[in-house]
Amino acid sequence: MAHQITLIPGDGVGPELADATRLVIDASGAKIEWEIQDAGLAVMEKEGTPLPDRVLESIRRNKVAIKGPITTPRGSGFRSVNVALRKALDLYACLRPCKHYKGVRTRFENVDLVVVRENTEDLYAGVEFEPGTAEAKQVIALAGGRIREDAAISIKPISAFASERIVDFAFRYAVANGRRKVTAVAKDNIMKATDGLFYRTAREVAKRYEGKVEYDEWLVDAMCMQLVQKPELYDVMVMPNLYGDILSDLCAGLVGGLGVAPGANIGDEVALFEAIHGSAPKYTGMNKVNPTALILSGVLMLRHLGETDAADRVETAVASVIAEGKHVTYDMKPDRNDPTAVGTKEMADAVVRRVATAA
Ligand code: NAD
Repeated sequence: MAHQITLIPGDGVGPELADATRLVIDASGAKIEWEIQDAGLAVMEKEGTPLPDRVLESIRRNKVAIKGPITTPRGSGFRSVNVALRKALDLYACLRPCKHYKGVRTRFENVDLVVVRENTEDLYAGVEFEPGTAEAKQVIALAGGRIREDAAISIKPISAFASERIVDFAFRYAVANGRRKVTAVAKDNIMKATDGLFYRTAREVAKRYEGKVEYDEWLVDAMCMQLVQKPELYDVMVMPNLYGDILSDLCAGLVGGLGVAPGANIGDEVALFEAIHGSAPKYTGMNKVNPTALILSGVLMLRHLGETDAADRVETAVASVIAEGKHVTYDMKPDRNDPTAVGTKEMADAVVRRVATAA
């Protein structure tokens, strides 16, 4: 039976990337019925909201979605559709595999890391008080002289519930994907209450997987140094929201940057696959940017659907096109102005040809 998948093309370069990804996935042998749902800037103009209910209903019905990037206007305008989707669907786990493919120019080879980031709490909970407000004054009074009177305050909640489910997600991912180790990353020498709770919970979860998956811990600052010196030693890393935000970009940088970094936001009911990068508005409609990140997000989606053969075929095809270095976009050429760089569509076509020969 075909998988029903919600496809949100997004805006900016999103629709071009979504077309390219769809082309490749359709060639993979997996049977997919796409339900296209527009969201973002143009939808805001037509329907008065950038994220109409029909989009959420479609994702809830199909349980799996893939989306192109969506612009978030700065300052005034609507709130981030990306954040709204994660909240509305309780997509608590942000999954960012960072793997080096031969042919991508990087400082390291043999990097194959996965960052699992908690997506719902920490300093991203949005509990913030401007200086001088009654709430800020209350917190300052509670702190008994440890906070200056003119301070702005952001609250960092870390719960046992959210820590348990993200660490368990990381272990389940490790087991399902043949990974050997989960590393918990936080900073409990300073944040004894919040990060202390995160580690304590992580240790309890790790006991359930003893003998199957190794467990270790690093403080986030030391982890950063480890990653830029010997990234090949690490495997799956799990951490609260803010550290995850920072380390997942660091790891994407280790393997070649935005053009090649896939991602997923996953909850208990629904999984939403998307590249890390944004809508790159200046390249809209130019058939220029790299489709690899969204295609590899599609590979993650195929694995999530249990379509392992199709996923392997696409990943091998992408790796082979990149390794050859001929039919690749400008960002993958040693010289960004290289006139032999191809467009988004042409790179996807090259991947489709390889998928066909790999089949
Ligand atoms: P961006 O990722 O869109 O682009 C930054 C630069 O990175 C681009 O100018 C381009 O040089 C390069 N780049 C990005 N994707 C590329 C690709 N596939 N191939 C080659 N080069 C690529 O970041 P930004 O300019 O900060 O954000 C633009 C918009 O996207 C903003 O409105 C932002 O809010 C939004 N955004 C959306 C998402 C999402 O939908 N999940 C994520 C991040 C940013």
